[in-house]
Amino acid sequence: VWAKVPAGPPDPILGITEAFKKDTSPQKINLGVGAYRDADGKPYVLPSVLAAEDKVISERNDKEYLPITGLGAFTQAAAVLAYGADSKPLTEGRVAITQSLSGTGALRIAGAFLARHYPHAKEIYVPSPTWGNHIPIFRDSGLEVKTYSYYDKKTVGLDFEGLKKDLQAMPDKSIVLLHACAHNPTGIDPTEAQWREISSVIKSKGHFPLIDNAYLGFASGSVDKDAFALRHFVEEGHQLILCQSFAKNMGLYGERVGTFSVVCADKEEKARVDSQIKILVRPMYSNPPVHGARVASTLLTDEKLNAQWLSEVKGMADRIIGMRSTLFDLLQELGSKKNWGHIKNQIGMFAYLGISPEQVDRLAQEHHVYLTRDGRISVAGITNHNVRHLAESLHEVTKN
Ligand code: PMP
Repeated sequence: VWAKVPAGPPDPILGITEAFKKDTSPQKINLGVGAYRDADGKPYVLPSVLAAEDKVISERNDKEYLPITGLGAFTQAAAVLAYGADSKPLTEGRVAITQSLSGTGALRIAGAFLARHYPHAKEIYVPSPTWGNHIPIFRDSGLEVKTYSYYDKKTVGLDFEGLKKDLQAMPDKSIVLLHACAHNPTGIDPTEAQWREISSVIKSKGHFPLIDNAYLGFASGSVDKDAFALRHFVEEGHQLILCQSFAKNMGLYGERVGTFSVVCADKEEKARVDSQIKILVRPMYSNPPVHGARVASTLLTDEKLNAQWLSEVKGMADRIIGMRSTLFDLLQELGSKKNWGHIKNQIGMFAYLGISPEQVDRLAQEHHVYLTRDGRISVAGITNHNVRHLAESLHEVTKN
């Protein structure tokens, strides 16, 4: 039956993990996967998550289906976390929201919703580069994916002029995907002043912002600071879509906890949008899983656990920031003549090293250090035990 089905290419990140597993060197380091690791390089279950799980289990809840749009207590609390308690659209009851299968599921609902209902365009513009999965998600949702300038190879920084020029050059009312904070893969975010300008250009062109927020709290350690771009856009009156993930900031990767929300003009519009979200979700997966949402909801609404969670998020962000400094300092100490300032300036889980695919290959083949060929490392995979080997290897392959 499947004789004509061609073999597809392997997933690039999973390929790295395979190569890493085969490597028998005790020095090997895997910086490919975007999952947080603790100071010993181990997967980390947040103590606040364990406590919330204990609480949820002690409640002896039933296992009935959730409504199509998920656990209301969770989605409401998640919206307050992202938009802020004083957010006008929230207090005016005009945000349509549904629980989603983490960030990916939210983006997939967004793609499907826009493809079906957005009246002005069937194209979506994503930054170049962007998270690898954005492109197939939107393509498979029925949108045509185009790119706008984002990364400046020369400065290993933001190509702000190119970005603005591209926003201007797009047809009016285009759909534009923005990373709310901790841009993946580059770790390069616009400054607050730059966000204000981006918002103005988007507004003047009537573009539609789709905001992907997979790292709230993970960039700076502060939810409010990381929510700046989203909240600024909402204050400026953009009727945007938000895709939220709790994979990273709660470490709930495999529980698949997220939200998809649409800021509407008024309550009546919200009710119509809500009805269409249900019509989209029902044939896709009927309703979302319940356990992770209960845990997340507990972390967001139990005052004590919420405070503990926020401090643990800060702890993760701070460890990453600390590892950036250590890596930078070691490269200086080793006498590297390259400017590595971007390692410290970039934020979030990833750093874009600005090295060539050939140098990436040498890191793997000669030094047992594994990362994606675009030169992206997951800073969360660096520890005090492996940072010196990483710095020495990086120095070796970038000497000439
Ligand atoms: N958006 C971005 C930019 C991401 O980096 C990720 C995770 N790598 C996601 C969305 C979605 O992740 P998940 O589906 O695990 O929430």
